[in-house]
Amino acid sequence: MSRLFAGTPWDRPPTCERCGKLESACACPPPAAEPRQLPPESQTARLGLEKRAKGKVVTVVGALDPEGHDLPALAARLKASCGTGGTLKDGRIELQGDQIQAVEAALQAMGYKIRRK
Ligand SMILES: [Zn+2]
Repeated sequence: MSRLFAGTPWDRPPTCERCGKLESACACPPPAAEPRQLPPESQTARLGLEKRAKGKVVTVVGALDPEGHDLPALAARLKASCGTGGTLKDGRIELQGDQIQAVEAALQAMGYKIRRK
């Protein structure tokens, strides 16, 4: 390693932030990789259609706690089951077109409760 930073804070060997030992001597368990996930059965998704410019319609899935869900993964699953495009925006999943029936069926299959707007 370069000694360019000798005598500066960057010269310290890497230590564990939790136990303070050198990383090579650290025996801390790895941090939990999975975020806290809420069971779908306890969640009610709001499902509705919204109009966009030029008469386009999008199907919106909202009211799901972004902290308790892997929303990007859920969006990908819904896009696949509807065979349409979509985006994740402000914690809401938007799918192109009227996908109410397909989204409702897919969410119910995963265990979610649904409330239509
Ligand atoms: Zn440690």
